[in-house]
Amino acid sequence: REWCREIPKIELHAHLNGSIRDSTLLELARGLGENGIIVLEDVEPVILKSSRTLPECFELFDLYHIIATDHSTVTRITKEVVEDFASENVIYLELRTTPKHNEAKGMTKDSYMKAVMQGLNNVDEVEVVLNSTQTSSNEEPETVINSFGNEIKQTRKIHVRILLSIDRRQTTESAMETVDLALKLRDSGVVGIDLSGNPVVGQWSTFLPALKYAKEQGLSVTLHCGEVPNQEEIQAMLEFQPERVGHACCLDDSHWKLLKSSKIPVEICLTSNVRTECVSSLDDHHFADLYNEMHPMAICTDDCGLFSTSLSHEYYIAGTTFGLSRDELYDFAKNAVKLSFVEDKVKKELLKIFDSYKR
Ligand code: 5GP
Repeated sequence: REWCREIPKIELHAHLNGSIRDSTLLELARGLGENGIIVLEDVEPVILKSSRTLPECFELFDLYHIIATDHSTVTRITKEVVEDFASENVIYLELRTTPKHNEAKGMTKDSYMKAVMQGLNNVDEVEVVLNSTQTSSNEEPETVINSFGNEIKQTRKIHVRILLSIDRRQTTESAMETVDLALKLRDSGVVGIDLSGNPVVGQWSTFLPALKYAKEQGLSVTLHCGEVPNQEEIQAMLEFQPERVGHACCLDDSHWKLLKSSKIPVEICLTSNVRTECVSSLDDHHFADLYNEMHPMAICTDDCGLFSTSLSHEYYIAGTTFGLSRDELYDFAKNAVKLSFVEDKVKKELLKIFDSYKR
């Protein structure tokens, strides 16, 4: 476990509001309870319940949305989430979030994203690098002996890029707005678009114009694909050829073959898939099949707060469940660099960190 924590890691599938610390979530819920905005007694057992079906998770997300509707809370959550990932040696974090519009709170999608950016600015435990032109601080690197017995120089630094999520409840117009916002924020670290939200809600045809537009404008696109067995949609998603897909759980044989032959990389979220009952158990997870075929994949957390997990823990359970050696896990972590949506210059820098870590 400690070894999985210590090695450098890349996180490619993390939802901001699903990654809220339990302690912060409870504190915020208690505050809202005291102000009569929510009934804490109704909410506490839901927050503390550890195993939830996918529909129950979406009920909880509605609660998260109530909790995260003011700008200062969004800023606080962002800061904490980045610090938490950095504290377990994530050197590159691709964080996704749905820009929210809430008139009653004076929140627009733009102001929501400003609050997120403020959170990134407020991180003080580690240096946050948001684009490849940002010059690094002059902090002296610390010399440490790592678990491979190598002496390495380490600076406290995390590269962060943002994906804007289109929620499946959104209209075409609203999805378009999200893509426009992503284009506007390109220089601030936004690199792509994600399609997420309750998989039984909404139609592929509603999101397609915005996703096509994103692709045409050079944004990277990843889709939550196959969380439910909607084969028609899965077919359309694979034909769209996104740069990555998340989950890929409920594919029938022909789509499974199509996924493999298309080599579309998969963001693997082990704990999430078991907790939300998208797969029956870890032993039955499609990770093993994809791994044996050397399909491009990255191990990710999805919602480390909601599922009480961490990226280190996901590596640990991948290693123990599928019998991967340390070398194999390390290569797996390193290979995730290639699947990220970051500029090539940063990819090279990240690969160098991996290479110097295990000489
Ligand atoms: P946010 O976008 O508010 O920062 O993060 C929470 C949101 O991410 C949820 O409301 C939901 O739309 C999306 N999300 C988080 N986890 C999952 C998941 O496992 N599947 C899908 N389809 N969407 C998710």
